Amino acid sequence: MGIGTAFEYELANTAADRDAVEMYFGKDYVPGGYAWIISQGGNTANIGVGIREVLFEKNMCARDYLEKFMYKHPIASEKLQDARILSVVSGVVPVGGTPEKTVSNNVMLAGDAAGQLIATNGGGIPTAMIGGKLAGETAGEYIAGKCELSIYEKRWREQMGLEIKTAVYIRKMMDNLMRSDRLMSKAIRTISPQYMKAIQCGKLPDPVKKTLTKLNFGLG
Ligand SMILES: Cc1cc2nc3c(=O)[nH]c(=O)nc-3n(C[C@H](O)[C@H](O)[C@H](O)COP(=O)(O)OP(=O)(O)OC[C@H]3O[C@@H](n4cnc5c(N)ncnc54)[C@H](O)[C@@H]3O)c2cc1C
Repeated sequence: MGIGTAFEYELANTAADRDAVEMYFGKDYVPGGYAWIISQGGNTANIGVGIREVLFEKNMCARDYLEKFMYKHPIASEKLQDARILSVVSGVVPVGGTPEKTVSNNVMLAGDAAGQLIATNGGGIPTAMIGGKLAGETAGEYIAGKCELSIYEKRWREQMGLEIKTAVYIRKMMDNLMRSDRLMSKAIRTISPQYMKAIQCGKLPDPVKKTLTKLNFGLG
């Protein structure tokens, strides 16, 4: 349950919006996740899906979902009708949270290996950079005899542990809603852009928690 799959094409010759990051939801195109179209300048763009295998239909894989989105989604297919695939990027996305321990003997885990990413959007580059920086600094201090290696655990959890944990909690609440386009549309319409931004940073403002709980219990 704690693993997502991301599959992305870098495309040339698209009509992607250069001023916006486009995110698309809907269980038929992106079960348990979302699709994106992100301009890379000029007429190039990245298009991808971040989805959950546990929610896939039978005989479908991540590439099938990406191609379905690219060629059949009413908006995406129009923007990408003349697109040419330049490259493919894919990988797993650990959206289940962090292991209990990320330091043991002489080993420190950082980035995806430590579950350091925001589970609500699968973004792990900024968090991996923070984890990697702290691990490197701790290693340097440890070699100089200035600290124990175990301090790394405390350091990274202080900086982003709560946000990572909260994002996993929200992701679990969203999982249920993502099975229904009606509930998902309602959640997106109800949550303001300001709160949506907070969610993407691993924060759960009280009104959002209330809305998600209500929708989860079929009260919305
Ligand atoms: C398709 C896709 C799109 C994504 N888009 C975004 C995005 O837009 N924004 C965002 O924030 N996050 C995104 N992510 C997530 C983000 O890429 C990861 O969370 C982040 O790269 C994690 O950094 P990392 O250093 O832990 O791991 P990685 O970036 O995976 O780096 C690990 C490195 O270790 C190397 N390696 C593996 N095994 C060995 C070995 N045995 N020996 C030596 N080297 C080894 C690998 O080749 C790799 O270079 C995306 C992920 C995917 C799959």
